[in-house]
Amino acid sequence: MSLLGAIEAGGTKFICAIGTGPNDLRAVTRIPTTTPAETLPQVIRFFRQQIKQQGTLAAIGIGAFGPVDVRPDSPKFGWFLNTPKPGWQQIDFAGMIQRELNIPIGFDTDVNAAALGEHQWGHAQGLETFIYLTVGTGIGGGGMVSGQPIHGLLHPEMGHILIPHDLSADPFPGVCPFHQDCLEGLASGSAIEKRWHQKAASLPADHPAWALEANYLAIGLVNYTLMLSPERIILGGGVMEQSQLFPLIRSQVRQKLNAYLDIPKITDDIEAYILPPQLGAQAGIMGAFALAQRATQSK
Ligand code: ADP
Ligand code: ZN
Repeated sequence: MSLLGAIEAGGTKFICAIGTGPNDLRAVTRIPTTTPAETLPQVIRFFRQQIKQQGTLAAIGIGAFGPVDVRPDSPKFGWFLNTPKPGWQQIDFAGMIQRELNIPIGFDTDVNAAALGEHQWGHAQGLETFIYLTVGTGIGGGGMVSGQPIHGLLHPEMGHILIPHDLSADPFPGVCPFHQDCLEGLASGSAIEKRWHQKAASLPADHPAWALEANYLAIGLVNYTLMLSPERIILGGGVMEQSQLFPLIRSQVRQKLNAYLDIPKITDDIEAYILPPQLGAQAGIMGAFALAQRATQSK
């Protein structure tokens, strides 16, 4: 298989890699996300150096934080749109990489990329319709419907669905600057840290934060399940390092569905229905390789 490039463009760092997949990773670098003028030339420099050492790349795949324009026929395909990330609004990201390196580009959201990685090498192999949700600094979701990455008007923004919020049980107003108490506003890592005034990683496993967290995430998952009918839901991101969340979420999902979906995958085998990514923290960068591979096929 021809050598590929991959970029996972995140809010705190850009991971750039050369290889073809999980068993063939030849070089990786992490570049801090500061300003486009500072970060992007370092990205280009890494790929130029690697191309010099390892030979040409067939394509580069990019999974990026959003909102981004993922519609291939749009004049702004591959752009960062009105992202809340200061300095990164309205930047022609994919086009710049493509022009500088003169290489075909595959482009999607970070979460659609991670979903694709899991589809090719992980827990979504053989599935047609599934969701990948990341619960980190923010919350984002992607996935596939009928074997195609979910796009549409733009791309899903699953973190911003509105959530019933019982203010007597949880008076915290939420952190989303747009909606306050959407799912991201109530259940992202940033929300946990602001609500409890400490690092999420330092909250003990039996802290009430986790039952509340599981409750909010389960509301989200029930809504996604009823809406898209996914065959599986993969939950990644830093917050899901708290593995005690999985059984809590599964039991809350079951409780909230209230036996409405009488399907063995949910009634008997929910451990395989809601689960962590097989590729772990590598899902995103591997998905970028999968995007690159697709870009070589669509030429
Ligand atoms: P990002 O969302 O920035 O791409 P991550 O997926 O690593 O990165 O998410 C970072 C968020 O996850 C932070 O809010 C952090 O507090 C939280 N987090 C990281 N590690 C843990 C952990 N072990 N337990 C709970 N929360 C964690
Ligand atoms: Zn929101």
